[in-house]
Amino acid sequence: MSTTASPLPAGVPERLGSTAFDTDEEFSHIRVVQDVAEATNAAAILVPICPAKVYSVAPDGSILAEWAACLECGTCLAAAPEGSLEWHYPRGGFGVRYREG
Ligand code: SF4
Repeated sequence: MSTTASPLPAGVPERLGSTAFDTDEEFSHIRVVQDVAEATNAAAILVPICPAKVYSVAPDGSILAEWAACLECGTCLAAAPEGSLEWHYPRGGFGVRYREG
């Protein structure tokens, strides 16, 4: 038996471009514990590891989290220094909606 797969867009940016987000504007599902993050240099891990580039460093050295772009892959939670990050899935009805495999 053969199946016909629908063609996927060519590149990662195009495939991610088909992903939709229902952003929870009221509550962030990501909180950086700034004092622990600073003491453990969490920025050196969080900024480069996130595939959606959610994390950045502010001029004052604090870590910013642009949660609206989160793909909910869990990589940052697995890699962050202990105690430096509080992460949970967005509230029901919010978050990423994947449209491609
Ligand atoms: Fe980035 Fe994935 Fe963490 Fe979301 S869960 S902030 S996409 S590493």
